[in-house]
Amino acid sequence: MSARMKAPFKARVVLALCAAVTAFSAQGDAAFDYRLQPVKIADNTWALIGSTEDITRGNGGNIVNTAFVVTLDGVVVIDSGPSRRYGEQMRAAIAQVTKQPVIRVFNTHHHPDHFLGNQAYGGVPIAALPATRAGERSDGGAFADNMYRMAGDWASGTEPQVADEDVRPGRWSAGGHEFELIALEGHTAGDLAILDRTTGTLFAGDLVFLDRAPTTPHASVPRWLATLDALSRLGAKRTLPGHGPVHEGSAGIDMTREWLRWLDQTLAQAAGSGMDMAEVMRLPLPARFERMPLARSEFERSVTHLYAGYEQRAMDSTAQQVLQQK
Ligand SMILES: [Zn+2]
Repeated sequence: MSARMKAPFKARVVLALCAAVTAFSAQGDAAFDYRLQPVKIADNTWALIGSTEDITRGNGGNIVNTAFVVTLDGVVVIDSGPSRRYGEQMRAAIAQVTKQPVIRVFNTHHHPDHFLGNQAYGGVPIAALPATRAGERSDGGAFADNMYRMAGDWASGTEPQVADEDVRPGRWSAGGHEFELIALEGHTAGDLAILDRTTGTLFAGDLVFLDRAPTTPHASVPRWLATLDALSRLGAKRTLPGHGPVHEGSAGIDMTREWLRWLDQTLAQAAGSGMDMAEVMRLPLPARFERMPLARSEFERSVTHLYAGYEQRAMDSTAQQVLQQK
């Protein structure tokens, strides 16, 4: 074959390759569509409801609820989701609802499914509690790696972007909505609850779960229980939990409290009777939780997170009793 014939052939191959790559990446983008559907939950208020599953390559980490409020001054976003892609698609979903710009993003806490979409909100102030910002800074890299491991390419290009402002707890008004920014803890060291007094809507983050077992990797059960009492006293008309359906009344607070009390009693009793971790994990779930999504796996995870602490307390109290008998 002459050199003159080779060149066009090579060019055709390159063109064909380019076309194939373009087709592949277009198909790739379509395959990573979270299909976010804003659901109106109150006046000017929309939620994006995730599934009550674990993070998988099927759901891309869309296991979380995020929300936005369209005020007269602009859009207030509550949590940005599990990946850069989710954040971008959330922004596009917001743009389908309103032409107003996004003026503020809040991160309720530092868990990856709630803040790894921050990247999509460049140029918008992102606010979180100081403990949340510290957690995003220290754990964000590991969280992003882990999200990629569990969700696969849904999370490609996701980098942790730490919130750039501290939340000042108290009243905060925006475009005709009066928000109460409430600094709490228990699910993590920094849990922001946001009550929109204008609509009576509580954005509870992961302080509240409904019909999905609570997660505890950074939890303090006693503090979380005290926080649930504080949330009850707010008397919100409706609650958007971090995971599970939006609801009127106190079903989410009640279920979360019931789970945490049962978990606390079960682990304390098990430690008191000297059970080892593997035995505790095999304990039966109460009938009321048996069918709840992720109940078994979250119970097992909670044993790994929390049981050593219960064993330590059981040993300390035994030592105390021995000392007192002397
Ligand atoms: Zn969480």
